[in-house]
Amino acid sequence: MTKQLDIKTKTARASVGSDTSHGSVMPPLFLSSNYTFAGFDEKRAYDYTRSGNPTRDALGDAISELEGGVGSTITSSGMSAILVALQLVDAGGLVIAPHDCYGGTFRLLEALKAKGSIDVEYVNQTVEEEVVAAANRSPAAFFVETPSNPLLRITDIEFVVAEAKRAGALVIADNTFLSPALQRPIALGADVVVHSTTKYLNGHSDVVGGACVGATDELHEQLSWWANCLGATGAPFDAYQTLRGLRTLHVRLRQQQEATQAIVAALVKHDAVKQVYYPGLQDHPGHDVARRQQDGFGAMLSFELKGGIEDVKRLVTGLDLFSLAESLGGVESLVAHPATMTHAAMTPEARQVAGISDTLIRLSVGLEAADDLIADLTGALDKLSASTELKLTGS
Ligand code: PLP
Repeated sequence: MTKQLDIKTKTARASVGSDTSHGSVMPPLFLSSNYTFAGFDEKRAYDYTRSGNPTRDALGDAISELEGGVGSTITSSGMSAILVALQLVDAGGLVIAPHDCYGGTFRLLEALKAKGSIDVEYVNQTVEEEVVAAANRSPAAFFVETPSNPLLRITDIEFVVAEAKRAGALVIADNTFLSPALQRPIALGADVVVHSTTKYLNGHSDVVGGACVGATDELHEQLSWWANCLGATGAPFDAYQTLRGLRTLHVRLRQQQEATQAIVAALVKHDAVKQVYYPGLQDHPGHDVARRQQDGFGAMLSFELKGGIEDVKRLVTGLDLFSLAESLGGVESLVAHPATMTHAAMTPEARQVAGISDTLIRLSVGLEAADDLIADLTGALDKLSASTELKLTGS
């Protein structure tokens, strides 16, 4: 067969038929921590699972195919993937990060800065002048997260890459929110892609894991070296589960995105909702860039309620089909309150600068039927509207 295979075909068939011992259709799970030497000083392909493992490599190969990189280093979590990627920055090097990045990333960057390991500046990367000014400060790396968590702001990756190249800086892109099914930063010029595979790539909320994808052999080698050195590599069982989840990535996201669009349409019309943040909306400031650099608008959205914190509490606890939980990208729908959950690691001041208000609510849309999700949400919102009317009329 000479035709170049579609990525969906490659993902469904990743490592299928690779077992040479019994011909198992699906790749086996290699749990062993160590491997015998073939003879004295005769190392086989694998010797010790921290350094390399066939199951982890099967997942790494599949992810790097999806991302268009040369290789992936599979790590124990998204945070360890980011920690590994940051090892590419020399001591004291300046990292330009988004002012509204994931709270855990912010905490890691702040901790490394406090120790003097690296320097960090936060800018609004959606504003071109801020990116240009940052590039003029001789950074070692730009850390990009687009769409951002939780406000779904869109950064123009190609613009950041052009400015980074001018400054001789690396671009590390966190592609967790869309996954390679909807966005491939390496094709847009990024040097490294990081993932919390905990989210869409595994997609079933039963693994915590991460990945660092290198755009060049040299970067991939450095990332793998650091992951082994730090002991940040992921467990084989987690890799096995994640590879299994990955096979359905495209179908899951297509369905989740379709439901998200229907939910957004319902929320925009609801009188208890002040504002909806979703890049698919025509009036979203990043809509045009998202249309250009993404293959879809994704299955995450956030919205602001008109009421106060009490209304937020009533809404998030009044839903039946959205579990109140951290994380995202699973088959089950989730609701989160960023100020007290995902972004609690940020100071209130940093949250204010990032525009994360106390009445902001984030949704991760799963595989439940869109009509059921909309009925659940609008039912809870209707109750809020009714109680506000009661308060206003004094009855
Ligand atoms: N990057 C983003 C955008 C995230 O949302 C998260 C977690 O929510 C992480 C990184 C960290 O991933 P993990 O929780 O797997 O360490």
